[in-house]
Amino acid sequence: MDNLTIIQKGDASGNGMVAKFCLPSGLEIITLPTKNFYGGHWDLGPTWNYAVMADQPFLVDAGRFGQGRHLAEMMAVAGIDPEDFEFVLISHSHEDHDGGLAELVGPTNLKVKAHTVYDLLIRQYPAIAPKGYKQQFPAKCWHCIMPASFYEENCLGYHRVLQDLEVERIGDGREKIADGITSLHLPGHSPDSLAVMLNEEVLIVGDVVLPGITPWPTRLEQYEEVAGILTPLYPEAGSLFGLKCYLNSLMELMQIADRCPDILVLPAHRVYYRDQWHGIHLAERLHQLVEHHIQRCASILEIVATGEKDVDEIARLHFKESLLKGPGKLMAANEIISHAEMMVSSGDLIEVKTHQYAATGSENIEGFIRNS
Ligand SMILES: [Zn+2]
Ligand SMILES: [Zn+2]
Repeated sequence: MDNLTIIQKGDASGNGMVAKFCLPSGLEIITLPTKNFYGGHWDLGPTWNYAVMADQPFLVDAGRFGQGRHLAEMMAVAGIDPEDFEFVLISHSHEDHDGGLAELVGPTNLKVKAHTVYDLLIRQYPAIAPKGYKQQFPAKCWHCIMPASFYEENCLGYHRVLQDLEVERIGDGREKIADGITSLHLPGHSPDSLAVMLNEEVLIVGDVVLPGITPWPTRLEQYEEVAGILTPLYPEAGSLFGLKCYLNSLMELMQIADRCPDILVLPAHRVYYRDQWHGIHLAERLHQLVEHHIQRCASILEIVATGEKDVDEIARLHFKESLLKGPGKLMAANEIISHAEMMVSSGDLIEVKTHQYAATGSENIEGFIRNS
């Protein structure tokens, strides 16, 4: 990669890799990747947090809960004092990005900026929360698929911190954060996903665009669970959730790719992985992601065209058996449902009963995606 200086070499997956990007404008961005614990087929590699050394320095993301010490160590290696940051901006509400806030915000009094939906969904709403152990979950975690034992070990302390967190809200569309720094709301992978554009030379994209892996989309149906909280501001499920919403966000990025074809894209995973740096050419990667979803829709449509099928049957016919083990089964179901929901919208499928689909005979999906 151009303009890159390694300050501390990390491991083969990129853990601990402290590196500095020096941009033509003089802006410096320092990578602070913290450990993730997913393994096997679901290994994302570390979460790449970034220190943006602008006139008002700020941090993008804070890694997973429990990684605070490593984050602080890497900052020390790079000569950064956390007190120098004006704020930390959270790219989205997934725990591998905001978990570390618990350790960071208390000792430093750091301000937190995140999308409006983040501020709404990190709170507890006991009256409308699912019953049982999820009563104490913030609304953003109500759909979590992990068992109660996992929650007690990994999330309890983190959830408590979120309740009292003060968040400066960032709005929809594009918003100016400081001179030359713009946020973009790019929902779909998560309803509150943000990217940050710096001087039209760097785009920090969170999980919206990743090298080598396809970010998983939300399902439209996830809106129902939190509709009581979001409806006043966001009455349409499709403005925050679902695969079509995600693809619309990619189209938004396409405009940036057209205007700034050589922009440096810094994603939140796999920047360095398997002993290699993985640069992203924005237009090319966006094109690959769109084609991937068109292909997956075509393949699902072909399967359903042979006769009405439910999500599990479609998953068995679409994915390799090895991908359907353990949590893989739920991830696969998420993939199938998000694609099927979009093909219900395009008129190619009907949902005959919950998560059971029949083909209508039309094949509108490609045009439906490309013309968004
Ligand atoms: Zn994510
Ligand atoms: Zn992530």
